[in-house]
Amino acid sequence: MKKIVVFIMCFITFALAACGSAVNDDSKYLVLVNKTHQLPANWEAKITLVVDKDPWGDDVIIEEETLEQFKKLQEALLKEGVDIRLDSVYRSVDDQINLWNYFKEQYGEDYCKQYVAVPGYSEHHTGLAVDVCMMIDGEPDNDNDHMIANRDLFAKVHALMPEYGFILRYHEDKEDVTGYSYEPWHLRYVGSPSVAKEITEKGLTLEEYLGETD
Ligand SMILES: [Zn+2]
Repeated sequence: MKKIVVFIMCFITFALAACGSAVNDDSKYLVLVNKTHQLPANWEAKITLVVDKDPWGDDVIIEEETLEQFKKLQEALLKEGVDIRLDSVYRSVDDQINLWNYFKEQYGEDYCKQYVAVPGYSEHHTGLAVDVCMMIDGEPDNDNDHMIANRDLFAKVHALMPEYGFILRYHEDKEDVTGYSYEPWHLRYVGSPSVAKEITEKGLTLEEYLGETD
């Protein structure tokens, strides 16, 4: 009898440990990377990156589940007459260094500080942040001003995306919390529709949801 009890106890302990690791594994989708939170060390070892294409035919690198869910979102939006595509997703720290230098040369350091993340502090390093572009009359358009002006299109995107686990990352009135101006094109996968819906319904930023608003 004692042996059976010990066996059951061992089994329960093992099962709990297994559950615990599964929970930890899912929590990667709630990682916070912003101007004060650096990408966690060895991040790339925690995720699976896959390759897809942008509408210009170039490779786009993205986290596996994020792509799966994005494709479902795209399909649902097409039924509403909205066609969005992947533009910029995963960027390594080296890519971000190049981007920073490019924008600094083009627009100066002040522009960079406002719109471009410091290498190591970009949410795009996670593979979970998706910049989309719009297809207008069969042509891709990723012009920031055009996308901000296209309120009807992005209203549909933002209304539907929590169903597939995506949230709007940089709200119009939350610059003081996120450190970024409004970016209707920047969607973030958070791992589950229920979490995405809760964040969206409460009108929260990821920082506020995680209690990391310092
Ligand atoms: Zn972005």
